[in-house]
Amino acid sequence: MSDPFPHSTTRPLFGQLAIVTGASRGIGRSIALALARAGAHVVINYRHSRDAAEAVAAEIRAMGSRAYPVQADVREPKQVLQLVESALHFGIPRILVNNAGIARANLLLDTTLEEWNELVASNLTAPFLCTKAVLPHMLSAGYGRIINISSIWGIAGGSCEVAYSATKGGILAFTKALAKEVAASGVTVNAVAPGAIETDMLGHLNPDERRALAEETPVGRLGRPEDVAHAVLFLASPSASYMTGQVISPNGGLIT
Ligand code: NAP
Repeated sequence: MSDPFPHSTTRPLFGQLAIVTGASRGIGRSIALALARAGAHVVINYRHSRDAAEAVAAEIRAMGSRAYPVQADVREPKQVLQLVESALHFGIPRILVNNAGIARANLLLDTTLEEWNELVASNLTAPFLCTKAVLPHMLSAGYGRIINISSIWGIAGGSCEVAYSATKGGILAFTKALAKEVAASGVTVNAVAPGAIETDMLGHLNPDERRALAEETPVGRLGRPEDVAHAVLFLASPSASYMTGQVISPNGGLIT
């Protein structure tokens, strides 16, 4: 009988090239490290935080994987093409994690069109542009793993985060539709929808608000970037070939 687990379980991504957008900080940083620990070489995209991206690259190189920090504003079509061109110098990308994103808390009636457009550009247009630039190479290779970072608010809707929720719900529909379109070509498309995760994005919460949020969460704590990275690592692995169009939500039980 053939081996039902043909991929190395210690370094299942050995030698694969991954692109992680917004990998200089927070969840993206943790995803880049997790993929590298599993053997992947990682393109570390960032917009402003060059020193932080270089520091992530140094951590990855210390693990014995390759790391390539690449500056690009993923809202901008030309910069996305340059990002993917740069990545192609290092290999064919087999994994794309659309992680870069922004959040804004506001009542709908106080949300300006400018803020709405900014959220759509960062959270919805950017994954569209990155996916469109990488997908042809995955289709030619007959293999790919695309993972989109959504949010629990994309599933459940967040009060005072209507625009953010709309973009994060939109990326879930994008994920499910594209998964069907490319399933026969060996490319899977999935989403991870985290709950409240300790990163700069939660920086606007004061200690009392953080405590309240942790108490409201059934596991009794806020999430860590690694909690999200574990889910991404699973979806990125060759063994996850039967998972597509799915949403995994590391949220400590906050929504079920
Ligand atoms: P974060 O700490 O604020 O980090 C955001 C990252 O995205 C940074 O690396 C930033 O780069 C990059 N970025 C933002 N806009 C970009 C652009 N236009 N082009 C390139 N890079 C850009 O955020 P996070 O908490 O890690 O969030 C990561 C993802 O998880 C987002 O999609 C977010 O919506 C989602 N999420 C977060 C939470 C949470 O509670 N934290 C919960 C659910 C979902 P620079 O460092 O160069 O600025």
